[in-house]
Amino acid sequence: MANASINHLSAQEAQVEIQQLQDQLTTYGIAYYEKDAPLVEDHVYDAAYARLQALEQAFPQFVTQDSPTQNVGAAQTKAGLAKVVHPVPMLSLGDVFSLEELGEWEDRTVKALGFQPEYNAELKIDGLAVSLKYENGRLVQASTRGNGLIGEDVTANVLTIDSIPKQLQEPITIEVRGEIYMPKASFVALNEERENKGLQPFANPRNAAAGSLRQLDANETKKRQLAAFIYYTAEADVLGADKQSDVLLRFAELGLPTNTTNRVLPKMAAIDDYLATYTAKRDELPYGIDGVVVKVNDLDAEVDLGNTVKVPRWAIAYKFPPEEATTVVRAIEWTVGRTGAVTPTAAMDPVLLAGTTVQRASLHNPDYLQEKDVRVGDTVTLHKAGDIIPEIGQVLLAKRPADAVPYPIPTTCPACGAELVHVEGEVVLRCINPTCPAQIQEKLTHFASRNAMNIDGLGPQIISQLLEKGLIKDVASIYWLTKAQVLGLEKFQEKSANNLIAAIQASKENSAERLLFGLGIRLVGAKVAQTIMATMKTIPQLAQASAEDIVAIDGVGQAIADALVAYFQKPDAKRLLAELQQAGVNLAYQSQHAEVNPDSFFYGKTIVLTGKLEEQARPAVVQWLTAHGAKVTGSVSKKTDLLIAGQDAGSKLAKAEDLGITVWSEADFTSAKAAEEQATS
Ligand code: NAD
Repeated sequence: MANASINHLSAQEAQVEIQQLQDQLTTYGIAYYEKDAPLVEDHVYDAAYARLQALEQAFPQFVTQDSPTQNVGAAQTKAGLAKVVHPVPMLSLGDVFSLEELGEWEDRTVKALGFQPEYNAELKIDGLAVSLKYENGRLVQASTRGNGLIGEDVTANVLTIDSIPKQLQEPITIEVRGEIYMPKASFVALNEERENKGLQPFANPRNAAAGSLRQLDANETKKRQLAAFIYYTAEADVLGADKQSDVLLRFAELGLPTNTTNRVLPKMAAIDDYLATYTAKRDELPYGIDGVVVKVNDLDAEVDLGNTVKVPRWAIAYKFPPEEATTVVRAIEWTVGRTGAVTPTAAMDPVLLAGTTVQRASLHNPDYLQEKDVRVGDTVTLHKAGDIIPEIGQVLLAKRPADAVPYPIPTTCPACGAELVHVEGEVVLRCINPTCPAQIQEKLTHFASRNAMNIDGLGPQIISQLLEKGLIKDVASIYWLTKAQVLGLEKFQEKSANNLIAAIQASKENSAERLLFGLGIRLVGAKVAQTIMATMKTIPQLAQASAEDIVAIDGVGQAIADALVAYFQKPDAKRLLAELQQAGVNLAYQSQHAEVNPDSFFYGKTIVLTGKLEEQARPAVVQWLTAHGAKVTGSVSKKTDLLIAGQDAGSKLAKAEDLGITVWSEADFTSAKAAEEQATS
């Protein structure tokens, strides 16, 4: 472990190693905190850090002020972002990696306090710390942690984050702190988008959140769908709270987003159950966590314990061990995406990793593949980046077969044989043949997908059969499909054929931002499509617009405008639009606000969803509720009017019951929704 062999080192040897580790960790820190692009995985950093800490403890004469053990986070603020001084420093957290080390921290705490305190356990959210200043209830400044003493002003960016209130429910003046994070779903979508644009994907949601928050253009932050949990204030007296657990409740009353999974532990032994619960639930959570933070609950005791230069003594982070597995790479496959990007994927022996069986991991692009030098036959370590995406860590070179050779980068498209191109400024290889069958398949799959035209039942396998039989050739031809044709496909019967045709017909009524996104125009994501259509109103109007008209829309940049103009100028696009119109597909934007019916039962209600929904997708429910005038929030408070609880609902349900809030099952919601739709039809 970290202190192995330290006792045998001479002072000179220790000094050399300390210097090397300090330099190495500083380099890693700059890449991680300032560039949001780590050079190594966290556990590699953590192991080097633990070794440095142990060496510095044994040889304190070599501790320098600029050692990473004596400093919080980033050394430099990003050029273009103003500096903000933190009157109360924003600290890091001490960390432990085993229950034994946690026990040692508890012993030190009890000894320092002279009594056994109560603890508040919270999830350690994998994001970045933020400070929010409210004056008379109004958000006036937001800043990053920076080096703990000086952070970066990110007020304009934070104002774009929906879950952070611009106005508190009470007109108080207070500075609060919490974590800005990127929900797993947004992280996956952002990385997909980056790969489509030929950019390097973010390594994990924390770096993605940091990169997204530390933007010079707030419009860019807005697109990234960040969220927040607030968990700390140095001014708890303003709230009249004397326990950390009560501070969280008061935050919720103020309208601040809080994570309600916290648990008060009367004694440390109770941590076992909390750890077991959240280790098991970790994969299901919609945000990444990398451990649990245990805090002394009594705030007077917190003040008594105080802080070191870098970390508080009253809290400790218990970090989850990295979940890693080893497996063997059997093939490297190249797949063609809808934009023609040709991506290598490692196909491996199936292995269980953090709750799921994994047998494929993206190798992103040729540069990445060459850098990692993964070869067929290699034994590799696998982990999940940010709890979600399987990623190859290292190649175990000692196990490499003697005959393994570097994998050749293809020069022709694996689907259509066209020559591949390397577009300048991009890391990906592209097939630019517009009739490439793999691209057509991907385009159609995208068109039918949930965030686009949302055609239930029209998945990749059905699309592939329809293409093989020559029944469809592009997105417009989907609308000419007949029930008899569908019945001719494998596994289709009367009912399933009716359902598919009905889903296709229903999609004609979609508001036009879905169609615009579904067309799969480069750089036009779901959110951008929504922004554009809210101004342009109809697709034909957009097709006529100049790049200047499009750029004038708030939140839309030149590259997107150019991509749209180029797309709509193509004769193929003109023909497609004419065919879609002829098929009766709606080309107009239906403003969601115009639809809000003030007589709706849901109008003006604050609603929380929890648990697993069986019948409907959660985003569709949120969209429906919002379209009917409800505000959907993440945590239960006195202000909540209704909790809709799906399967396996946990703490939110318990809290709602405690507060006497109305609780509906999913079935209750479905019938209320049906009644409402009937009343307005
Ligand atoms: P940290 O992330 O280990 O812990 C401190 C942070 O936890 C706080 O600043 C806060 O932002 C956050 N946090 C989340 N939930 C919280 C809660 N409920 N209560 C209180 N705080 C909460 O420490 P750090 O100093 O921000 O970063 C150090 C870590 O970053 C390292 O342990 C390593 O894992 C990673 N790192 C990696 C590299 C790399 O190259 N891979 C480089 C530098 C740092």
